[in-house]
Amino acid sequence: MLAMEGFNPKVITEYFAPEGRMAASIPGYRYREEQVNLAESITNAFIDQEFLVSEAGTGVGKTYAYLIPAILWAQEQKEKVVISTRTRALQQQLTEKDIPDMKKVLGTEFVFVEAKGRENFLCWNKYMRIVAGRKRLEPEERRFIEAILRWAEDTKSGDRKELTLDSSLMNKWGIVAADRKSCLRDSCPYSDKCFRLKMLKSLEKADIIVTNHALLLSDMLVENSILPKYSYLIIDEAHTFDREAFDHLSLRFSQSDINETLQLLFTRDKQGEHGYLQYLRKKYPGFSSLFTEIVDLSDSSSKILQNFFNVLKKSLTDKDYSYTRVLQWQDQETKWMLKAMDLYLEWQNSIILLISKLNSLNDEIKETEEGNELENILQSLSEYSYEASVIMEENIDQQDKITWLECERGQVVAVASSELDAGQVLHERLYSKLESLVMVSATLAIEEGYDYFLTRSGLNTFKGDDRVNTLLQQSPFNYEQQARMFIINDIPEPGERSFAETVAGVLENLFLIMGGQVLVLFTARSQLKDVAAILRPDCDLNDIRLLVQYEDGEFRHLVDEFIHTPRSVLMGLETFWEGIDLKGEILKCVVIIRLPFRPPTDPYCSAADRYCRLQNKNGFQHFMLPDAAVRFKQGTGRLIRSEEDRGLVVVLDSRLEKKNYGRVFKNSIPIKDVLLLETKQLPEYIKEFLKK
Ligand code: SF4
Repeated sequence: MLAMEGFNPKVITEYFAPEGRMAASIPGYRYREEQVNLAESITNAFIDQEFLVSEAGTGVGKTYAYLIPAILWAQEQKEKVVISTRTRALQQQLTEKDIPDMKKVLGTEFVFVEAKGRENFLCWNKYMRIVAGRKRLEPEERRFIEAILRWAEDTKSGDRKELTLDSSLMNKWGIVAADRKSCLRDSCPYSDKCFRLKMLKSLEKADIIVTNHALLLSDMLVENSILPKYSYLIIDEAHTFDREAFDHLSLRFSQSDINETLQLLFTRDKQGEHGYLQYLRKKYPGFSSLFTEIVDLSDSSSKILQNFFNVLKKSLTDKDYSYTRVLQWQDQETKWMLKAMDLYLEWQNSIILLISKLNSLNDEIKETEEGNELENILQSLSEYSYEASVIMEENIDQQDKITWLECERGQVVAVASSELDAGQVLHERLYSKLESLVMVSATLAIEEGYDYFLTRSGLNTFKGDDRVNTLLQQSPFNYEQQARMFIINDIPEPGERSFAETVAGVLENLFLIMGGQVLVLFTARSQLKDVAAILRPDCDLNDIRLLVQYEDGEFRHLVDEFIHTPRSVLMGLETFWEGIDLKGEILKCVVIIRLPFRPPTDPYCSAADRYCRLQNKNGFQHFMLPDAAVRFKQGTGRLIRSEEDRGLVVVLDSRLEKKNYGRVFKNSIPIKDVLLLETKQLPEYIKEFLKK
């Protein structure tokens, strides 16, 4: 335990007292015992060098509960505290509102910096190449460059968030955005002006670094070479951390990525031949035969790759729009896999030969300005070749890895692989380097227990040495008074023909009685599409504004429309289960169409299931069920966001009542007023609820 005078639970909790500095500085502040308990536990975790896992229900005020101890600890100990969030929205709220609020509350100066991914920053090298006319631009790209010219010359941060362009123009941001593959690093002629490097430098002086899970995990994978050294970490929105780790640990062997790089070298179209080699060919006519060899190798490598992916396509049984196919042990001996393996080896030989020819060319020109660019292409191709070799020669038949095919419109577009147990990697490469770790979220516990989260996150390995504490702080809201749940018990199963019609009928009635302000959460895109198609004409007739994901705009646009349009209804898939925080009359009812079990074709799900089997555990009990319960908790949690909110959750999946496992879902949410109804009873019960 570290002893210190100015930092102890008593000092910290005084800030939250009814007459304390929070009450004096934050308008609308309410004293909440749950918040004080959380702040106290976080303080102890820092002092005792321990790990804390805490579910803090909606309304506890977890952000302030961790900010005060984090800032005071950073100042007192001269240690950096890193705060990581999942969403950009929370990262922005922290840096634009909550942390500046803390300056008022604490009455002290401290330095905080937002660490963002490089894709947020303008790359001078890319920009200057475009301005110098060294890159061919499409008309829309040219319009984008014209629109950012003045900003690019004046900006101090180079951060894309300063731009307020139409999304059609912002879609072109990638042509000037910093990216790992094209970055010239030490040999960049603009490194002294580089916005990303400036941001990284500013992190050195920070007491508090606010980042996101993606950057935190990238830093972990490159041995902490992005963020400065830190030993104190707070992970907010921790419920998705292991999923993000799984995604981050994955490797991809993608046809389009490789072709894109090859096209930087050379392409042919009706207008002629283009690309970097063409440019070099004119500048260095003496290397003509080497250029020809490189072009031939690049062509043949693309063709072999195309054949490889065509052969993999034979493994697909379903020409779905977009899905994944997890490779099984028995696939190894199939004809298509053996053929694909031969083609893969042929492709490796050709790409290695291509790399060696490019190296010869690079030896000739590396002292010139063009050499930097060639080095980048070489590095990209070498990385692709290496990643492909890890997937195809190592991971594909290892027990602790999972490999899958990514498909789009019936074509295989990539082979990818990841860890079966991302938690183990987190343990070794992240947690073991920390003094203290705080993981918080509104949804971590299943039936008030943390076993599932501790296992998935890799923290269970610390349980033996008593280093991990858990704390459950329920929401302070009065759910008895504020919320009710109806489960409808006579909706047909999704496979039945009448499913979409019946669901649409229930929803239409519900929309009319509620007068809009309903959020409908789906788990399958096809169901969303079918139900929306049935509902739309009647909604138009009844002056209900139907906002459907993929049909009426992007996430942010749909949410804005929902907020500002009376009698509106929002229907969406996964992102809508978590990403919405709407208080008051804007959202009065949440409808859950089906319990959110993940499809077994999801590689993350498949990996977890395999991992359970390796541990002799039941995959449904130990992963599918708790995972779905956390997501259910997130979905139903959209409803009550403040003390004043009042509303309904309607679940159209009777498994919640009829199956034994339904209790896990019900016991994990704070709504306890639950009624089982038939469809025909629903209108009457809704009206009765609204009357109160
Ligand atoms: S260092 Fe990299 S990101 Fe920065 S300007 Fe140069 S190429 Fe772009």
